[in-house]
Amino acid sequence: QTLGAFFDDMVAKQPDHEALVSRHEGQRFTYRELQTESNRLASALLKTGLQPGDRVGIWSHNNAPWILMQIATAKVGLVLVNINPAYRTSEVEYALNKVGCKLLVTMAQFKTSDYLGMLRELGPTRLPLLQHTVWIDKAGDADQPGMHRFSELLASGDSTDSRIAEVGARLKGQDPINIQFTSGTTGFPKGATLTHRNILNNGFFVGECMRLTPADRLCIPVPMYHCFGMVLGVLACLTHGSTIVFPNDGFDALSVLETVQAEKCTALHGVPTMFIAELDHPRFAEFDLSTLRTGIMAGTACPIEVMKRVVDRMHLGEITIAYGMTETSPVSCQSAADTPLDKRVATVGKVQPHIEVKIVDPETGATMPRGQSGELCTRGYSVMHGYWDDEPRTREAIDAEHWMHTGDLATMDDEGYVNIVGRIKDLVIRGGENIYPREIEEFLYRHPKVQDVQVVGLPDRKYGEELCAWVIVKPGQMATEDEIRDFCKGQIAHYKVPKYIQFVTEFPMTVTGKIQKFKIRDAMKSQLG
Ligand code: ATP
Ligand code: MG
Repeated sequence: QTLGAFFDDMVAKQPDHEALVSRHEGQRFTYRELQTESNRLASALLKTGLQPGDRVGIWSHNNAPWILMQIATAKVGLVLVNINPAYRTSEVEYALNKVGCKLLVTMAQFKTSDYLGMLRELGPTRLPLLQHTVWIDKAGDADQPGMHRFSELLASGDSTDSRIAEVGARLKGQDPINIQFTSGTTGFPKGATLTHRNILNNGFFVGECMRLTPADRLCIPVPMYHCFGMVLGVLACLTHGSTIVFPNDGFDALSVLETVQAEKCTALHGVPTMFIAELDHPRFAEFDLSTLRTGIMAGTACPIEVMKRVVDRMHLGEITIAYGMTETSPVSCQSAADTPLDKRVATVGKVQPHIEVKIVDPETGATMPRGQSGELCTRGYSVMHGYWDDEPRTREAIDAEHWMHTGDLATMDDEGYVNIVGRIKDLVIRGGENIYPREIEEFLYRHPKVQDVQVVGLPDRKYGEELCAWVIVKPGQMATEDEIRDFCKGQIAHYKVPKYIQFVTEFPMTVTGKIQKFKIRDAMKSQLG
C-alpha cells in the first residue's frame, strides 16, 4: 500500500479526530482537515508542472506545512527530499543538485538563519535545476520569478482535483517516496532513497511497539528532516490514528515541558541530550507530566542512567529504545512496553517483526556466537532502495544477499536482546586491547558531577591509540581531572582510564542531536599538535 491510500483509509475511520497540533503556529487540524489541505497542496504541486518521480525539497524546521508536504508529495508520487535546516549555502547547493530538486519549500527566515538570503546568493547559476522556491513564513518578498509564498501556492490548488486519485491509483509500494540524508555523524551525509513500503511499514511497526491508539498524543521535538521525526513520530501517529503535537520550532526544553502539560501528551520522543535538558531544566518540577506513558529514546547510545531518570521522574514507564539508521527506514530493533525494565534501559530490545538481523565478524563475514560483538547486518522490507545516484556506495553497503552492513558493533544475548556497542569507526584499540568508548561513557555518567561525557580515541605513538574524555559537568559544579581519574581507579582497568580529560560546555553536534566524534578527535589532534 502507499502512504496516501493508508492515510485516506484512516481519515475515513475518524474524520473529526484531532490529527495535528502545531503549538508555535497556533494551528490545529482534524484528520479530515489534514486530508483536505494536503489534497489542495498536492493539486497545487501538480499545477506547477511537476510530474510523479520529480524531486521536491523541504528545508525547514518542524511546522504544519512540513506535514502537508509529506502527505501531499506522497499522494502524487513526488519524492520528498528532507534537507537539514542547519545546512548552509554550499551544503544545500550540494543536496539540491545531487538529487535534482525542481521545487523547494523553505522558510524565509528562522532566528538568525536567512534561508531566502542563502538561496538568492546561490541563484540560478549554482542551482540550475531549481524552478520554484516556496517559503512558509510571513517575512520575505517574491522579487524573482519562481518565488512563491506557501499560502499562495496552497490557494492555487483544488482539494477535489481528480488528478490526485488518478496519479495515486498508479502508485506502488515500491515507488520512491523520500530521499533522506544521513546525519553526517561520521562525515559527509549520504542520500538514502526510501520507498512507500519502507517507511510506511516501519512507522506502523514502531507505533505497534509503543501500543499507540487514537487516544495517544505524541509530542515530537525531534526534527522532521530526520527519520526519527518523520517515521517514528509522524508515520507512527498517522498509521494509528493518534495526534501529532509539535512544541516550539527548534529544540527548547521548556517548550517541550509546557507542551506536554498543556496538550496532555501521552508520549514523548527525544534523543538522549533532549531528555537530559528536560530533566535538568530548572523549572522541571513545576510541570505536570502525569499524562505521559510512552515514547522513544533513540538516535545514539542511550545512557542507562538517563533512561532510569526518564522512567522514574517523567512518568515514562513504558518508554522504549529504538535502534536503526536512515538506510533502514530507520528502525531494526526496539524494546517494547512489556520488555523487562532492566533489559529496556540497557538494550535496544529485540528485532522488529519482518526484519532479519545477524551479527558478523567484520573481517570474515562469519556469524558470531551469541554474546560476542560483531557488525550488525540487517535485511528485510526496511532496507533502502539504495543511495541516490551512487551505485558504488550502495553496493558497498548492501551485499549480494541483500544484507545492509550498518557499520555498528553489537551483541545479541541468548534471549535475543541486542546491545549496540558502538560504531566500528569509534572503536579504540589501545596497545592491542579493544576499548568500547560507550563502556567508559556509561561508567563516567555515574560520577555525581558529570552531566554528559564523550570518549574518543586519539592516535598515540606508543600505544597506537589513547583515550580522551570530554566532560560536561552539571550546572554549578566544578571538577578536576584528578577527581575524574580517581573515580576510575580500582573500578575499571587501568588501560581504560582516559589519558586526556577535558572539561567543555558543549559537544560538536548534528541537528539530530548526535555527537560528531570525528570533530572531537580533530579538535584534540590540532590541540596536541
Ligand atoms: P552518517 O551515516 O552520515 O555518518 P549517522 O549514521 O549518524 O550519520 P543516521 O542514519 O541518522 O546517520 O544514524 C544511524 C546511526 O545512529 C546508527 O548507525 C547508529 O550508529 C546510531 N544509533 C541509532 N540508534 C541508536 C541506539 N539506540 N543506540 C546506539 N546507537 C544508535
Ligand atoms: Mg550512518
